[in-house]
Amino acid sequence: MDVDPDHREPSNGPKPHDFLWFPDGNVVLSTDTFLFKVHKSLLAVHSSVFRDMFELPNVGHGSSNPEGSGGSDFGSASELYEGVPMVTLAGDKGEDVVHLLRAVFERDYYHRDDDNTSLEVIVALVVLSTKYDFNAVRKDVILHISRQYPMCLHEYEALDDDEAPLFGKTRANCHFPLLVAAVTADADVLLPCLFFACSDYAIDYTFHKAQSLPRKALQTLIQGRDSWNLEVNIYVCSIPERLQQLSVEGGCQLVRSCLEDARFLDLHGHIQPNFRDFTGKNITKSCLRFDMVCSTCHSFAERKINEERRRIWDALPSYFKFPEWSVLRAQLRAIVES
Ligand SMILES: [Zn+2]
Repeated sequence: MDVDPDHREPSNGPKPHDFLWFPDGNVVLSTDTFLFKVHKSLLAVHSSVFRDMFELPNVGHGSSNPEGSGGSDFGSASELYEGVPMVTLAGDKGEDVVHLLRAVFERDYYHRDDDNTSLEVIVALVVLSTKYDFNAVRKDVILHISRQYPMCLHEYEALDDDEAPLFGKTRANCHFPLLVAAVTADADVLLPCLFFACSDYAIDYTFHKAQSLPRKALQTLIQGRDSWNLEVNIYVCSIPERLQQLSVEGGCQLVRSCLEDARFLDLHGHIQPNFRDFTGKNITKSCLRFDMVCSTCHSFAERKINEERRRIWDALPSYFKFPEWSVLRAQLRAIVES
């Protein structure tokens, strides 16, 4: 194996990063591609995991035992790099750690209001800020994602456009990577909306995009998707009967409400609808003929379908086995205030 004469590391090993290499740093973080020479005290201020790690007697202090303690997620940490204690960040990609450290140390690197931030940065920040408990970064990035996948129906549908730009890609290309990241980071406040966003696709596409999703989360996705579709389909099939039952409330000026005898055409076209298309306006427009139903009854039918759509949305977390929205909103507030 070739060895770089200036360094103890093999030439094909991780290299010192160009600027995350502070000459007076007192710990070296090692990843697959980069080495970072930084300050223990600064890491400890921002991250409880690093704080606890550096309090261990054999971590980040250097040791005559090059084998280290082992067994930890962030690796054995008793080696020296050019006389400085070195901590191996096992399993982390160097580029991802660059994003995390720059978000922590560079004021302008990441803003939680900037939707042009790349998806790669967002994913790295949510996963690594959770793994190492960089609380301020985690709070910012979770808030950032939650603004794009809001729990409020009106806010969600205002953003629900697969082709809209988000994080340097289209929204459609963000759903699955963000779901995987949020699952990895146990970010429950994000999960119902992300599971839901990933539920709107054909099953082969879903399996293709969900390859890196843990099996249990994939099961949650498929079961939730089925529950949601079943609920919507049952409702769509029952629309004529339900509106007939409600017809006396519709305000029709005729002696016998139009909805008593209304015929719905091609309702099957709304079985397993895209959520964006599952609206009172779309269903009445395509299925309820204007020449058979007065405008008052038409508006009433549209309103009743939208009310049911909201009821189904309100139950959305339960399809994916999460607590109701009010609980999740309280959890999000707790993160904001932490
Ligand atoms: Zn009428």
